[in-house]
Amino acid sequence: MSEKKRITPAAAALTVVCLLVIGALIAFDLFLSGRECKEQTVAMDTVVTVTVNGRKSKNTAEKICQLVSTLEKENFSRYISGSDVYKTNSSKGSSVEVGSSTVDCINAAIKVSEASHGAFDITAGGIVSLWGIGTDSERVPSQAEIDLALASVNYKAIAVSGSSVSLSGGSVIDLGAIGKGAACDEIRKVLEEAGAQRCVAAVGGSVLLYGDGEFSVGIRDPFGKADDCIGSLKLNACCVSTSGSYERFFRQDGKKYHHIFDARTGYPAESGLASVTVVADSGVYSDALSTACFILGYENSLDLLKEFHAQAVFVTDNGEIKITDGLAGNFERKN
Ligand code: ADP
Ligand code: MG
Repeated sequence: MSEKKRITPAAAALTVVCLLVIGALIAFDLFLSGRECKEQTVAMDTVVTVTVNGRKSKNTAEKICQLVSTLEKENFSRYISGSDVYKTNSSKGSSVEVGSSTVDCINAAIKVSEASHGAFDITAGGIVSLWGIGTDSERVPSQAEIDLALASVNYKAIAVSGSSVSLSGGSVIDLGAIGKGAACDEIRKVLEEAGAQRCVAAVGGSVLLYGDGEFSVGIRDPFGKADDCIGSLKLNACCVSTSGSYERFFRQDGKKYHHIFDARTGYPAESGLASVTVVADSGVYSDALSTACFILGYENSLDLLKEFHAQAVFVTDNGEIKITDGLAGNFERKN
């Protein structure tokens, strides 16, 4: 008969301790992977709010805030000396080496310029400066001034070859209508690298929804206060951008002058819309298209949206809400 092995009290105690330690480690791991962290900063002339879930969520959220500031300083700002856009605007036609995020952004902008027949045009910098909306020098310029500034608006003056960009004809690049969306695309890369589970990153009116499952995004009431919503969209991972005439404007003689210009006329767009929210796979397109659709108006935007496989919610000047077919079931109106 074989001898029975006895478990000593010490061995039993050790087993219990080991199981407790393993349990604690699993619980800690689950805790870390589900942990949510929120960070906020001001960059690109707007508020950036990032909420990340997953391991190292604090570190990732901080990295993202830093990234948006860097993109502003090194790539997209036309006002910060040394940025890609600043260098291109000052290059007097010679070619400039720029970063890959600048190249991606400019190439996407050119596509939207072509598709919108020049209503959207990132070389409208001269028009943006002339009106000075949101600055101390905002004013209604004379027709002669507008004509002069319009002469330099021409996206065809931009030539991109690999990582070189050149700009001719005195044009001035302004990425105000696309840079925040481009930042969302760069943020997605950081999240992928960090193995983040879920993230909502809002760079002003451009929002990246990242990760599995459903998100709910409120659409601001263009006639209400900053936190009033007309409704919300239920969406899976994507990018959402809103352009509206309520963001930056001034009034003169009872007329409202806002910051989204029809690049073909040099005047603030009057297309019967108060806001447009565009849903697309990428940030560059959601941002550029929301501006382009705002300029073109509801009817003229439908083909443009189709071309870029994007969807939109339009709010007209009289408060009517119009939704493209692909989003109709996702929108919930607030009563
Ligand atoms: P916001 O900057 O308020 O999020 P938009 O994305 O619609 O709104 O971009 C508006 C900005 O785009 C303006 O402040 C200006 O810098 C730039 N812009 C204005 N009109 C045009 C246009 N027709 N084409 C390209 N950019 C424009
Ligand atoms: Mg835009």
